[in-house]
Amino acid sequence: MVRGVVPRQPAKTGRHEGVHGRSGMKPAGTTKGAVRLRASAPAWPQKTAKQRYNPLSPERVGEILKRLDQTYPEVTCALQHKSAWELLVATILSAQSTDVNVNRVTPALFRKYPTIEDFAALTPEQLQPDIYSTGFFRNKAKSVVGAAKKIVSDFGGQVPDEMEEILSLPGVARKTANVVLGTWFKKPEGVVVDTHVTRIARRLELTNNSDAPKIEQDLMKVIPREKWILFSHQIIWHGRKLCMARLPKCAECPLENLCHAADKTWSTVEIHKNAKA
Ligand code: SF4
Repeated sequence: MVRGVVPRQPAKTGRHEGVHGRSGMKPAGTTKGAVRLRASAPAWPQKTAKQRYNPLSPERVGEILKRLDQTYPEVTCALQHKSAWELLVATILSAQSTDVNVNRVTPALFRKYPTIEDFAALTPEQLQPDIYSTGFFRNKAKSVVGAAKKIVSDFGGQVPDEMEEILSLPGVARKTANVVLGTWFKKPEGVVVDTHVTRIARRLELTNNSDAPKIEQDLMKVIPREKWILFSHQIIWHGRKLCMARLPKCAECPLENLCHAADKTWSTVEIHKNAKA
C-alpha cells in the first residue's frame, strides 16, 4: 500500500449506503462494503426452525388434548365388564388380541364362572378351552386363575385398588393395572400404554422411547394427571378409528397439522423423519 493513502472507510453516519435502498443494506456478500457492514452489525443469535419447535411445549400438548376432547368427548374402555374382576380378566385376555375378540368370549365365560371364587377353584387347564380364541391361552389361563387365587387368599375376594397390590397379582403389569385402576376405580395412577398409545405417542413426538414403561413416564410428564385416564381412552380410540398402524387416515385426522409423523399418508406440515411408529 502507498504510504499516506488510507483505504476508504464506511461513513459513521451510514449515508454511504443510501444508494442500496431504504435500509441501506445490500444482500450479504455482494460488495466488500456490505460484507464489512454485516460483520460490524450486532450478531443476533438466529434460531433455526428445528430449535424453535418443541413437541412437548404446553401449548402444543394442550392443543392436542383439546382436539382429542372435541373428537372423542366421552370415550371409555371398549372391553365389556360389570365389575373390577371382569375388567381385570378382560384386560388380561386382551393382550395380543382385539377388544372385539375378547368381547365375544367374556359374556359366556362370566355366565359359566360368575364369581372370583369360581375362577379360583379352577386349574389353568380347565380354563384354557374357554379362552382359547383370544390367543396365548395357556399363559392367560395361568394368569387369570393365579390372579383369582391371590385375590381370594390375600385380598378377601376384592380386586385391590392400589397400584402396588394390583401389580402383585400374577399376569398383571402396569398396562392392566392402569386399565383397572383408571376405568373401574377412577384412579389416575398412570397412563395406559398399549400398542395404539405407543404408536401414536411416537408419531406425535410425545416420546422417543419404544418400551412401555419409558413411554408411560414420558407421557406422565407432559399430560396433566387429571387427563391420564381419558387421554389413554382417547388415544386408543384414535388408533382404532384413524391413526392405524398401516395407512393412517391423516386427511381426516383432527391432529393433522400438529403431526409431523414420517409415516403420514397426507400432510400439510413439514415431516420429521424421527417421528414414526
Ligand atoms: S395425522 Fe395421521 S399419523 Fe398423525 S395422528 Fe393423525 S392419523 Fe395419525
